[in-house]
Amino acid sequence: MSEPNQENKARLELNIGHISMWLNRLCAVTESINRNNGFDTVKWSDWGGGDPNTDKLLAKIALMHEELSEAVTEVRKGTREACLEELADCVIRCMDTAQGLHAGVALEHSFGEILVRKLIKNCDRGYKHGKRC
Ligand SMILES: [Mg+2]
Repeated sequence: MSEPNQENKARLELNIGHISMWLNRLCAVTESINRNNGFDTVKWSDWGGGDPNTDKLLAKIALMHEELSEAVTEVRKGTREACLEELADCVIRCMDTAQGLHAGVALEHSFGEILVRKLIKNCDRGYKHGKRC
């Protein structure tokens, strides 16, 4: 592990509770804004139960893809700030869906904690995660 990533890992491990809490709060606010604007946001029951609403979940994930495609278009046009906006749109859609999947269910880890744990894991993955590119 590189020296800078040792520092990154230590910082993340030290603050995982705080960072996770704020990420989870941001997800909750994002879902609330979208729901208040009339969007049919994901609910925990869309995942489970006898009749999971997989079409709805797949549509939400497709919309995340759409935002990334819009970001690709902005890169091709050379419009940096517009590209950042599309990336933000994608993150907003991810947070909205993550909130719906995890609110109201006792999961072992919250979305915020899962995200921070993934970053900590990446600190140990090494140069290009062992791949060429
Ligand atoms: Mg967009």
